[in-house]
Amino acid sequence: MIFMIILKIGGSILTNKDAPESEVDSVSLKRIASEIKRSLDNSSKELVIVHGAGSFGHPPAKKYRIGEAFDREEYPQKRLGFCEIQNAVKRLNMLICEEFISQGLPVIAVPASSFITASSKRITEGNLDIFKNYLSKGFVPVIYGDVVLDSDLEFCVISGDQIIQYLASNLNPQKVVLGTDVDGVYNKNPKTHDDAVFYEKFSSIEDLDALEGTTNVDVTGGMVGKIKELLYLADLGIESKIINAEIEDNIYKVLENDDVKGTVISRS
Ligand code: ADP
Repeated sequence: MIFMIILKIGGSILTNKDAPESEVDSVSLKRIASEIKRSLDNSSKELVIVHGAGSFGHPPAKKYRIGEAFDREEYPQKRLGFCEIQNAVKRLNMLICEEFISQGLPVIAVPASSFITASSKRITEGNLDIFKNYLSKGFVPVIYGDVVLDSDLEFCVISGDQIIQYLASNLNPQKVVLGTDVDGVYNKNPKTHDDAVFYEKFSSIEDLDALEGTTNVDVTGGMVGKIKELLYLADLGIESKIINAEIEDNIYKVLENDDVKGTVISRS
């Protein structure tokens, strides 16, 4: 049996989410591409890559308030906003794929906006046969946070984290890894709290509050969203791990099954 890995590379690693301009962190991108290449050369495996939208997707998605209810007369403007976002995240994907291909990785982009649909911001449909076909021929499919049609809201944004959950639930990989810019999950944001406590393992959303004793206001969007998706996978018996992809060789090691610091999300 060939080992299948679904690897997410966070938008936080590849772009500067706080920057007004859409720029790729080319140093990180080159390093991550080379770590993946080294691992694929070392041992055969099926790999699916998911990346976030980072600074390319977040500002236009916010500007056009995609995913919020709107009046009929706003429809043309929302639709154009949808196109703008789709194009922005595609540009990021193109830059990523360009680097990967130049390093000899056989990546093929499979944009979510071209085959996935949602209902109330949750993916409801998306035939993954094309992933299986590409994987069977040795390609590395790449998918990313994107806009998709929504049967309730017309349009919505789906995060790379939701895509991870959808792919893993349907493709049953042996391994699910999320590379981000912190070592894993803490009881509060480690970037703003020196006393944040690290979790080796995370089994329920209540774990976040357990150490604090109160609702943790610092646990914002990104990490909570991620954990919810991964706990859903954990319920299906699929374990995942969040690791720090900013640390050199972490991606290589995790792909090679070597020990890497990180938070395992599992119910057991
Ligand atoms: P990515 O773009 O890599 O998917 P996000 O930016 O969505 O990642 O989420 C990672 C960020 O979440 C970290 O940079 C960190 O500052 C923030 N964060 C907030 N709360 C926590 C927490 N409890 N544990 C770890 N990181 C947290």
